[in-house]
Amino acid sequence: MGNVGLKWMAAGFVALAVATPGRPQSDLDQKIDAHIQDWVGTYQHLHQFPELSTQEIETSAYVAAALKRMGYQVTDHFGKYEDPNLTSYGVVAVMKNGPGPTAYVRTELDALPVKENTRVTYASQVTVKRAAGEVGVMHACGHDLHMTVFLGTAKMLAESTSQWSGTVVMIGQPAEETVGGAEAMLREGLFTKFPKPDYVLALHDNSFLPAGKVAWKEGTILAGADSVDITVRGYGGHGAAPHTTKDPIVIASEIIVMLQTIVSREMNPLQPTVISVGSFHAGTKHNIIPDDARLQLSVRTMTPEQRTKALEAIKRVANGVASAAGVPADLMPIVELSKDKVPATINDSALTKRVAAALEKALGTENVLLADPIMASEDFSLFALADPKPPTMMFWLGAVDPQKIQDAKEKGTRLPSLHSSGFAPLAEPAIRTGVKAMTTAVEELLKKQ
Ligand SMILES: [Zn+2]
Ligand SMILES: [Zn+2]
Repeated sequence: MGNVGLKWMAAGFVALAVATPGRPQSDLDQKIDAHIQDWVGTYQHLHQFPELSTQEIETSAYVAAALKRMGYQVTDHFGKYEDPNLTSYGVVAVMKNGPGPTAYVRTELDALPVKENTRVTYASQVTVKRAAGEVGVMHACGHDLHMTVFLGTAKMLAESTSQWSGTVVMIGQPAEETVGGAEAMLREGLFTKFPKPDYVLALHDNSFLPAGKVAWKEGTILAGADSVDITVRGYGGHGAAPHTTKDPIVIASEIIVMLQTIVSREMNPLQPTVISVGSFHAGTKHNIIPDDARLQLSVRTMTPEQRTKALEAIKRVANGVASAAGVPADLMPIVELSKDKVPATINDSALTKRVAAALEKALGTENVLLADPIMASEDFSLFALADPKPPTMMFWLGAVDPQKIQDAKEKGTRLPSLHSSGFAPLAEPAIRTGVKAMTTAVEELLKKQ
């Protein structure tokens, strides 16, 4: 999840069927068994050596080399950021295997500036120097798990070319957490320089879903996110003479309260909207009323129409409160939309239902749950909007030790969320289920006619 999706809410999941007794091993299970120990090693290696967004040098080289060994045609360093000083470490790996559609599978490559605080033996010790000092680096969003599942899926598809017909394009996307990696790859011509996509798939691990299970939802699964900066302007003066000023701190405070009324009074209660003020800065000293105050907002919406409505309401409220306070017209608040916005992630209905049915068959209905949407965000959403506007689907991969979930329910222990320094997935069953699910999804879409 991107930087605009840092915090997760506990998602609800609905089981569609009661548990059934153990299932017989399939061919795919046997193949997975033969590789699972290697993949756990891959996961632990990637976990130990995380790299921050736009710095995925070793990670992308590792992924590219693995795909080459499997027989894929690999292009690395793919993508172009807006900032010409940045190198894009995108990886694109193509396997053509006869006539048929083209399915893309995407993983992210980047990690987060979080100091790891798990007790796993392969915990990250990596630190990087930044202007503000040294920070730890950790795969706290599980992109190491995604890469492992992605490489496992690529391997399974390469070993079973007799089972499917068409083209597989495996993409390693940089800079998801800071948002910009998907756009960089699309800007460089991902969908024109490589086979045109008929489907694009991704999965994301989930810190509230037990390892061994997956969950899906058609339609909106993740919110769209906008960052909004508001500069509230007044004019300052002595703290003892407020009547000679227009106090931007009081005006900004009223704006913050009014913003909450947009959500409760203007937006459709059946379509969740979030407006959170995450930063409020003003002033330098007790007895000085400053000239301005700065607010930083995170805005989450589920549809483009809802997004437009919320953003217009924010501008109106900011200007309206300033007007009511008597701020002159030339000092109305400046409301700026940040570039690091991402649209909502909307799963194509037909694709999602088709993949979900295949997953139920492969994993058992008891292991395939229905998910609720959450207000986190992803730049995976951009792939659905780029020409030729392919149907896309992202599903959840359970990553948590079922015992920990049980304890959380019964004893109230805390379950670390994604981006937490304590997030430690139960790797082996999650990798097993992820590879089985993603391989099944691709084979379903590219099955021989
Ligand atoms: Zn993520
Ligand atoms: Zn994330």
